[in-house]
Amino acid sequence: MHELSIALTIVEIAEEEVKKAGLTSVGKIVLEIGNLAGVETEALAFAWQEAVKQTVLEKAEYLVEHTTGSARCLSCNSAFELAFIYDCCPCCGGFRKELLQGKEIRIKSLEIL
Ligand SMILES: [Zn+2]
Repeated sequence: MHELSIALTIVEIAEEEVKKAGLTSVGKIVLEIGNLAGVETEALAFAWQEAVKQTVLEKAEYLVEHTTGSARCLSCNSAFELAFIYDCCPCCGGFRKELLQGKEIRIKSLEIL
């Protein structure tokens, strides 16, 4: 499952950060997930509960912030929001675009205790 591997990767990163800091656990973690990243929030929350067992994240408060995708049209150069990856430009109807945001899956903050 895609979401489980994402959760496990995040756990790995957090374990490393905690070790680097010479501490033992995480109080709070905030993830930033773009709406075009293909992540099911509910599936991730479910996978999360499994992935964090007996790790530094076991008792951490878990928050997800969603970012809205955006792109710049390569035909008319206007920037616009993207609800779906194949959306066309609302100004000129063009399909060629440069993705600016929306595919990210990252740890926005990590409170180490
Ligand atoms: Zn356009």
